[in-house]
Amino acid sequence: MKIVKMLCPQNKWNIKCPYEMNAEYITVHNTANNASARAEISYMIGNNNEVSYHVAVDDIEIVQGIEFNRNTWNAGDGSKGNGNRKSISIEICHSTGDIEKFKNAEKLTAKYIAYLLKERNWGIDKIKKHQDWSGKYCPHKTLDLGWDRFINMVKAELNGTTPQPEPQPTPQPQPQKIDVKYQVYVNGWLSDVINYNDTANGYAGVYGKTITGLRANTVGDENIAGKLIYKVHTLNGEWLDEVVDREKDKNGDNYAGILGKTIDGVMIKATKGTVKYRVHIINGSWLPWVEGYDANNSINGYAGNLGHAIDGIQIEIV
Ligand SMILES: [Zn+2]
Repeated sequence: MKIVKMLCPQNKWNIKCPYEMNAEYITVHNTANNASARAEISYMIGNNNEVSYHVAVDDIEIVQGIEFNRNTWNAGDGSKGNGNRKSISIEICHSTGDIEKFKNAEKLTAKYIAYLLKERNWGIDKIKKHQDWSGKYCPHKTLDLGWDRFINMVKAELNGTTPQPEPQPTPQPQPQKIDVKYQVYVNGWLSDVINYNDTANGYAGVYGKTITGLRANTVGDENIAGKLIYKVHTLNGEWLDEVVDREKDKNGDNYAGILGKTIDGVMIKATKGTVKYRVHIINGSWLPWVEGYDANNSINGYAGNLGHAIDGIQIEIV
């Protein structure tokens, strides 16, 4: 941003800017005059009045008269006021002149203030009006036209000059949830259950009744939903032969188990996604979820506590 500097000579600092400053605010004024920015600054640093400000902006340029590390006598809030001691003071020129000229000066000021805010990592709340410090009706023309309107001009500049955010990576389509449909045999085949999160059909089984058969399938075409492969262990018996997904298996109504023989272990795997399953022990509780498929891994290889009949099963693909 181009800033014209017409700096106050150091031998006048005792009049114009006697204190060091760490700016915390930006104060906006109107000149109540029709002079250009250069003329305003030239006049300000040329006289010996204890009246000063850092910058004047007209419709063409930004002119700085005092560095921001010195205070200015702009705000009418006394020698210790934050307006005078901690604010960057900016005069918008031509506030009694041609309205279009003034509006252009406001526009350039908004652009400049946005630049200053960004440079300092400051928020919009750092912008004050002269009126905030001393009650004086300044910046008079800006207030007439609407203070919020001016603040919005600064916001628009902030948005317009903010670097565009990094392009977001194109979101990968989430794989479709694969549903698992399953049922168990108690004194007959119970109704199908889909997953377990439907509270009405939270699991397959009836507490207190031994399960002796299981059949299950993924819902949908094998290309998308894959298929389930599973087997069961019979109480005091062994792991029975592997069974393939009820729907995808050409034999149709297959199942795992020997109907009438108590099941005490279940092992399930899926060709797509990860299958998660657990069983409920008769007169006991739900055992931990497992995801493996390994008869030799009693922790995560199968669900069940061999020797203990199962009366509930839950299956889901995650
Ligand atoms: Zn003022």
